[in-house]
Amino acid sequence: DKAEDEYLRQRKDDIVDVKERLLGAIKKTQESINITEERVIVVSERIYPSDIMRLLKYGVLGFVSKYGSVYSHSAILARSLNIPYICQAETNYELIREGEILVLDGKSGEVFIDPDPKMIEIFTELVKNQEEQIEASYKTEKIVACTKKGKTIKVMANCNHIYEIDIIAKQDFDGVGLVRSEYLFADHDAYPSEEEQYELYLRFVEKFDPLPVVIRTFDFGADKPNRFLSFDNEDNPALGYRGIRISLREKELFKTQLRALYRASARGNLQIMFPMVTSVEQVTLIKKIIEEVLQELETLGKDYDEDTEIGLMIETPGAALISDLLADEVDFFSIGTNDLIQYTLAVDRTNANIADLYEADHKAIKRLIKMTCKNAKKAKIRVAMCGEMAEDHALLSRLIDYGVQELSVSPNKINRIKRQICEL
Ligand code: PEP
Ligand code: MG
Repeated sequence: DKAEDEYLRQRKDDIVDVKERLLGAIKKTQESINITEERVIVVSERIYPSDIMRLLKYGVLGFVSKYGSVYSHSAILARSLNIPYICQAETNYELIREGEILVLDGKSGEVFIDPDPKMIEIFTELVKNQEEQIEASYKTEKIVACTKKGKTIKVMANCNHIYEIDIIAKQDFDGVGLVRSEYLFADHDAYPSEEEQYELYLRFVEKFDPLPVVIRTFDFGADKPNRFLSFDNEDNPALGYRGIRISLREKELFKTQLRALYRASARGNLQIMFPMVTSVEQVTLIKKIIEEVLQELETLGKDYDEDTEIGLMIETPGAALISDLLADEVDFFSIGTNDLIQYTLAVDRTNANIADLYEADHKAIKRLIKMTCKNAKKAKIRVAMCGEMAEDHALLSRLIDYGVQELSVSPNKINRIKRQICEL
């Protein structure tokens, strides 16, 4: 940066690029992408969640991929950030050339290549109207989501990135029902220190106090981004080393996260949730580790809230089937339907080829949700849902009938869902 020669100064970027690519190769992550223009749409065979996190800073306007599925983490991330992402654009994909103007219709899933001026005008108007509608929705009065029979449902926000804090704050939300903590550090090269984690968790907790903020411990593995833990290649990563399985094996790393979370708990309404738990023994271990962490904080004279609620994601059929036993151990459940559907129906959530088999409305899924709600009620703990099914208006009334008390959804869906609940 300090070189006097302009030419040499500019070569710095080449070196940075080579560094990134080398690191990418060593860590087996994808090749880095260099974006120098503004207002771009990224087109790629596949879009990984880490691509979205990395490309956010360039203000990318949209994504198109040949493969992928609407239930993938990439799609979830793009949705929550209000960025159109067209996956399975198989026919058009081959026709797109670099530098071409594209129009993406996120509602219909269409990609228009080299649109004529009339079409650009129509879509520009549509985008403007939509932005105005979103702005107007921020200004509407706050409402309590209550059905006509008098059941009140909390509608909370899912959050994947610190950028979303301000988007969420503008909504009529009842708390944050899921912070996917693994995404908060997606652009870090090293495992985040306790201080780094503490400062970030604190931003959520303080910003939304007194509303609850449920932070889920790291759910690395499978298709989640991760630049600092190295895994052996697995034949079945979705059934492999992920979520709480990693945390319980990497105990010191888990303790670092728990210390940061419990310290943040002293400053607001924080709740802690654990992903991919499939046995009571795992919960016993988690609680034992929590005890050790609290003891350490005590010794260090650091504040924490000893009444911090802990909860479990119910996202495997196994967890749903033993939800009676798990309910005795924790303060709440949150049903993760994205994984629950994938594991129950044996349908990879990222595989477009079998997307028609990924059925939220399947009888097996209904039974598992019903069972989980029944067991939660019996144990007098609350039950939330934070998978994408919570946004499905066709299923809303059934979920409430089953006993789901909280729905955690993309921030931009909160208003619509609250209004729908009031109509039920
Ligand atoms: C889920 O599985 O439904 C869930 C909310 O977790 P994630 O999408 O992060 O796997
Ligand atoms: Mg999950």
